[in-house]
Amino acid sequence: MKIEILPSDPDGLARAATLLSEGALVAFPTETVYGLGGDARNDRAVAGIFDAKGRPQFNPLIVHVDCVETAKRYVTWNDTADRLASAFWPGPLTLVLPLRPDAGLSPLVTAELPTLAVRVPAHPVARALLAQFDGPVAAPSANPSGRISPTSAAHVSAGLSGRIAAVVDGGACEVGLESTIVGLADAPTLLRPGGLPQEALEAALGAPLALHASGDPLSAPGQMTSHYAPGAPVRLNATDLRPGEKLLGFGKVDAELNLSPAGDLTEAAANLFHHLHAMDALGAETIAVSPIPDHGLGRAINDRLRRAAAPRP
Ligand code: AMP
Ligand code: MG
Repeated sequence: MKIEILPSDPDGLARAATLLSEGALVAFPTETVYGLGGDARNDRAVAGIFDAKGRPQFNPLIVHVDCVETAKRYVTWNDTADRLASAFWPGPLTLVLPLRPDAGLSPLVTAELPTLAVRVPAHPVARALLAQFDGPVAAPSANPSGRISPTSAAHVSAGLSGRIAAVVDGGACEVGLESTIVGLADAPTLLRPGGLPQEALEAALGAPLALHASGDPLSAPGQMTSHYAPGAPVRLNATDLRPGEKLLGFGKVDAELNLSPAGDLTEAAANLFHHLHAMDALGAETIAVSPIPDHGLGRAINDRLRRAAAPRP
């Protein structure tokens, strides 16, 4: 099966929506990274997502919907969800809430957990596709499990061609990091740092978020230690260069590629996965990475880099 590359015009979106309603898998751009979409109500489509990615079935998926009202059909809503959704949806924030018994989703989506992760994306192409399909779309990042997330249609076809029906080409992703995940089934908890900084969430809540303890069985699955891995090993906080290494820089350093010569974290987030893909293609023996400040989007960047550098299973 050769992957169809669809334009993000009305014809391309109509084709993508038809494929989704037939149970086929379609990758599409969001502001975070490209998602691998399938109808969240269709067991065969959802099983196909796990299969195409080689993703373990105990790692649940995020369901993408067009608006808050639709989200409420699938989860039990609460006041904190209301506050965060009105501040940050559409956008790079995923909320984990109790799954409604009448949700009608494939049990594979939630890995049979009693909770569901749900998000309203901001990217105009994602929104147009959700509106046209008119249903819940399960969509993890459109890459083989454990590898670098895709921020362009070319990354998607390089990783998944032959395994999925189509990709809608909407250009490069603006944020470039996966969504921030907040658990709201109990006290508000940061389950995964991401494209929405923790500081912004805490300002909206007027209180600090609990931090998820690693090893917590509920949220641990997707937080696997080795993830986002390029082919070459990664060395972090590099302030010198060792034999065989190429430098992925940040700020004013002499580097093979630079995440942001100006030291801007938003720019660095947008470039992160793109540059990791490119460093791999350059054939570095080891990828050395400059230190990144650990605040704002820097926390999510450092989270992804630590996983990229972790020992491989
Ligand atoms: P990805 O789709 O690759 O961005 O990964 C989705 C992330 O959402 C993974 O880290 C999952 O563990 C997490 N996730 C999805 N559903 C839930 C849930 N019900 N509870 C906790 N985490 C979840
Ligand atoms: Mg992923």
